[in-house]
Amino acid sequence: MLKLNEELLVIHSNLLHLGEAFIFCHELAHFLNGDLDDQSNFVSLGRDKIAAKYVEGKNHEIEYKADIKGYQILSTYMSAEFPGGSDELRMAPVVMLMDVLEAIGIRESYTHPSPKDRVINIAESCYGGEVAKFWKSSYSMFKK
Ligand SMILES: [Zn+2]
Repeated sequence: MLKLNEELLVIHSNLLHLGEAFIFCHELAHFLNGDLDDQSNFVSLGRDKIAAKYVEGKNHEIEYKADIKGYQILSTYMSAEFPGGSDELRMAPVVMLMDVLEAIGIRESYTHPSPKDRVINIAESCYGGEVAKFWKSSYSMFKK
């Protein structure tokens, strides 16, 4: 256990809050991208089909697009609330969230890309190759 000083506690709390906000933004992006309009993305529940469940990420492209749109929403908010940050710094909450997902065993699956690939894709799409290369190289530093 660590006891953070007040300054680090504020930074850590903001990163956690923004990482959680990214999850909400990602789900909102599925709506904005029209993923909920496609009936083939749903499976019926119950014998009487009283409800339908959204099948998350039938392919990785849908997830990548929701990540990018979700990140753009979050980034707009962050630019207003925390002006002047670098591109690398603005991605910190998303990187932390994806690192936590990886740490608890979330890997590439049929429905979702790997957390690291999601970070690199957001960086590439929103900031270009140099920022993507920065995050990619940060992951390879710890490769065993
Ligand atoms: Zn999704």
